[in-house]
Amino acid sequence: MTSRPRPAIFVTSPVFRKPAWGSNHPLAIPRQTAMLDLCDMLGWMPDSDLRQTGMASDETLLRFHNSDYLSAFKNACITGKVSAGHRQRYNIGTMENPIFPGLFERASTTVGGAILAADCALKGEIAYHPSGGTHHGRPNKASGFCYFNDPVFAILTLLDNGIAKVLYVDLDAHHGDGVQDAFADNPKIMTISIHEEGRWPYSGALKDRGSCNQARNMPVPKGFNDSELAYLMDEAVLPIAAGFQPEAIVITCGADALSGDPLSGMNLSNGSLWRVVEQLVGLSKVSVVLGGGGYNPWTVARYWAGLWGVLSGRVLPAVLPQNAQIMLRGLDSDLVDEDDLEPGWISSLLDTPNQGKVRQQIKFIASELQ
Ligand SMILES: [Zn+2]
Repeated sequence: MTSRPRPAIFVTSPVFRKPAWGSNHPLAIPRQTAMLDLCDMLGWMPDSDLRQTGMASDETLLRFHNSDYLSAFKNACITGKVSAGHRQRYNIGTMENPIFPGLFERASTTVGGAILAADCALKGEIAYHPSGGTHHGRPNKASGFCYFNDPVFAILTLLDNGIAKVLYVDLDAHHGDGVQDAFADNPKIMTISIHEEGRWPYSGALKDRGSCNQARNMPVPKGFNDSELAYLMDEAVLPIAAGFQPEAIVITCGADALSGDPLSGMNLSNGSLWRVVEQLVGLSKVSVVLGGGGYNPWTVARYWAGLWGVLSGRVLPAVLPQNAQIMLRGLDSDLVDEDDLEPGWISSLLDTPNQGKVRQQIKFIASELQ
């Protein structure tokens, strides 16, 4: 692997393999384990590429999160109980943001991983932290399955180390609201979010440019396809990035933008997203690549395993090895109908491309942002 022009590292921890989310939650699917198993089975996880992360300290967490929220969250994780007042105030202990065993360790390790990823990126490594991407987290409460906001900590770490301008690009199907708002008054950060229109959290309108003109939002219609993503990249994202001239880039790669995701209606194939992430990583010598949402375990595991293969310069197999196919066939999800399971989700890493017409609405978005 020493011949790689730009080394890539994979941030991980045994914590991310632990059971989480209880039983009645969209994230209670084996997506992290399936992705890690798939990378292992492809032989893409040599120790030399892995960076083990620990938890972020309370002191670190308090750089973004409020102390009353942190202590209420911690107390809930220890006791397993949330008072009605705290449930209301901090949005924890709800169906959306449940309290489950191991939650505090998992949430703070996710932040620790983002900080480690930023540290590695500063050394010139492409830093991949697929368990990160909790982009909805707020200083004073949990939001959208996110208790803390690890992308914010990756960006803070870059700023701490003298990076003058950070570009944050959010490819998750949902608006990257927590990150946009976290840096609303900081001209050193530009945020770009491509997300499905009319979806929770219902923010990120085309006209929303943040409070100091440092946000760009691209709310795209249902069925958003590979050709439309490529168009927006060429006509909007890359020109905006060129104008901003970032010294570092942080990308959230929510897998819910893929075709087949049960919680969103975008229609991208993993190959088109790999290409986009590669293009974005190529914009800066300091690059952090995070995960995000994603509720179809087959498409999440294949997207993020393949993304690691692409970022680390490995050759992607046309057909997955038998053990990987057996593992994928053994996955289960209440949210995905068995009849909707595509044969390619078991046998191959690369999705069938979803090219199509670039709709007028997409051209309008690009023209408004130029
Ligand atoms: Zn999402």
